[in-house]
Amino acid sequence: MSPAILQGYHATKAAIRTACFAANKETETASLVVVSKTQATSQIEPLLLAGQKMFGENRVQEAQEKWLHLKNKYPETELHLIGPLQSNKAGDAVALFDVIETVDRDKIAAALATEMKKQGRWPRLLVQVNIGREPQKAGIDPDGLPDFLDRLRNSHGLHIAGLMCIPPVDDSPAKHFCHLRKLADATGLKLLSMGMSSDFEVAIAEGATHVRVGSAIFGERPKVGPGKAI
Ligand SMILES: *Cc1c(COP(=O)(O)O)cnc(C)c1O
Repeated sequence: MSPAILQGYHATKAAIRTACFAANKETETASLVVVSKTQATSQIEPLLLAGQKMFGENRVQEAQEKWLHLKNKYPETELHLIGPLQSNKAGDAVALFDVIETVDRDKIAAALATEMKKQGRWPRLLVQVNIGREPQKAGIDPDGLPDFLDRLRNSHGLHIAGLMCIPPVDDSPAKHFCHLRKLADATGLKLLSMGMSSDFEVAIAEGATHVRVGSAIFGERPKVGPGKAI
């Protein structure tokens, strides 16, 4: 583990605190979810030892490989699924994750509801909103959100705790964060997962309760495929 990781971690924590106070929040209102995708256990464990509890992973199988062991050792960990979920992985996701941030279609909702009843485990659920209405991106269209929330509650019997978004990379994020907060206010949802390494301060100013930060702590992730970041 390079000492740069702990430095990046403490610098990020300090920046979150500053952003909370700058947004006139009396207390630290935004929680840090450390995004540990692609990082080895040896890179992650020092952060657990430093007291970090919330982590995010984007692939179920990779998360199982690392976190079945790490969660046993650090049982207070709160693990967030922040990547797309396939319905055939719903059982594994319910068994491992404490928060699933990417509920975005009925098929997933039905699979999660079945597994949650079967396992008697109730991870907190967030709906992912395709806030920039990008064709290639996961998430429910903002216009479809009220109906989708209605179906989640009434057809699938699921309790939804909040919303999550990833704004378009080539656009300034503030208006998208602001839009997500308005959608949450309008639908009575409390949790807002928004903001990553490059824009978590902006997200906090717009009311984020959870920011998901990876590369500002661990350094840039290796690229895979033609110019595509993981
Ligand atoms: C990778 C990822 C992050 C973290 O991105 P950084 O820019 O490295 O902070 C946050 N949210 C999601 C959904 C991700 O996939």
